[in-house]
Amino acid sequence: MRSDRDVPVVVIGAGQAGLAVAYYLHRFELTAGQDFVVLDRGPDAGGAWQHRWQSLRLGSAHRVHDLPGMAELGLSFETAERDVPARAVVSNYYRRYEEHFQLAVERPVRVRSVVNSGADLQVHTDSGSIGTRFVVNATGTWGAPFIPHYPGAMAFAGRHLHTADYVSAEDYRDKNVLVVGGGTSAIGFMLELEGVAANLNWVSRRPIDWIDTELLDVEAAAAAVAAQDRAARAGHPLPSIVSGTGVPKTRRIAAGINRGLLVAKPMFSVLEPGGARWSDGSFVPADAIIWATGFRPELRHLAPLKLRESAGGVTVASGASWTDPRIFLAGYGPQASTIGASRAGRTIARQIMALL
Ligand code: FAD
Repeated sequence: MRSDRDVPVVVIGAGQAGLAVAYYLHRFELTAGQDFVVLDRGPDAGGAWQHRWQSLRLGSAHRVHDLPGMAELGLSFETAERDVPARAVVSNYYRRYEEHFQLAVERPVRVRSVVNSGADLQVHTDSGSIGTRFVVNATGTWGAPFIPHYPGAMAFAGRHLHTADYVSAEDYRDKNVLVVGGGTSAIGFMLELEGVAANLNWVSRRPIDWIDTELLDVEAAAAAVAAQDRAARAGHPLPSIVSGTGVPKTRRIAAGINRGLLVAKPMFSVLEPGGARWSDGSFVPADAIIWATGFRPELRHLAPLKLRESAGGVTVASGASWTDPRIFLAGYGPQASTIGASRAGRTIARQIMALL
């Protein structure tokens, strides 16, 4: 199949990772729209943040690192408003970034597949094909929600939903709700649903590893990033970040623990039509189960390139695929945070410049 156009570098995704790569390509004097293109399937600027729920705010639990080159413009996240939804703050910030650095993001453009074309690649999108030499995949995880399987899941008569489907607490007024997961999203849902849901229960596969500080433990965070790096380098599936960092007890969370709200039960053993049952026979009724059980890297469109190892992951070091030198994965593994994604920009853009 012929390409509709040829562009040396295609960046898929305009979240923190894709924008950071585009920024450095631009700084290394490549021209957006000509030497590289950034494609994003979202309707607007903001990466996955534009899809997050209305009540999510930037603050102590959710902190966003500046994009490279932006703080110098006086548009730092440190000065971002804290009473405005995170999705509005981040979308607005990314939009101004794209405009200022003329990154010419093409949207909405969904990449359906990336395939071999001789020594090069073809990127098939819902609006034509692009021939290219290098692909930077910066597609994040929001589009690949993970829900573990439990016996009886199909028999449950209520609604299963994932973090990615959550809109607002009002949808659960006077309902029986079960929240599953041990991270900040599950905790945020518990705090929001208190006093709204008729019956609220929380379960976690692991005991919650509370840490007695307001902010993330820097050493634990570094160790969690190192564990991600080891897994990515070995081609293993990525471990959960939260299981490595613990959950900081902010004042709001500590108060929730003290009043008995934030006390997670162990996992149930089976789901029944009306709720969840434990092996000791106890039962909680549920109309809805909110699975705050994380996400996986969204890599389906790369399947034709056969990057997946038998160990279950993709082998990635410093943002580069070890299997295919034409493919970079920005925001993957150790880079999967806004700080990691911002740093990935320089690392990946430099490697591409050396190869072009
Ligand atoms: P994304 O922001 O997900 O961007 C990926 C982009 O790729 C999207 O715009 C999407 O439209 C596009 N895309 C995907 N597939 C395709 C396709 N096939 N074709 C075209 N475009 C495509 N990190 C922090 O540092 N601080 C936080 O406070 C924080 N809070 C978080 C809260 C939640 C609920 C979650 C789920 C994650 C949070 N993270 C946080 C992690 C953080 O969101 C990410 O590490 C970072 O923002 C991800 O940036 P990204 O560019 O990799 O991905």
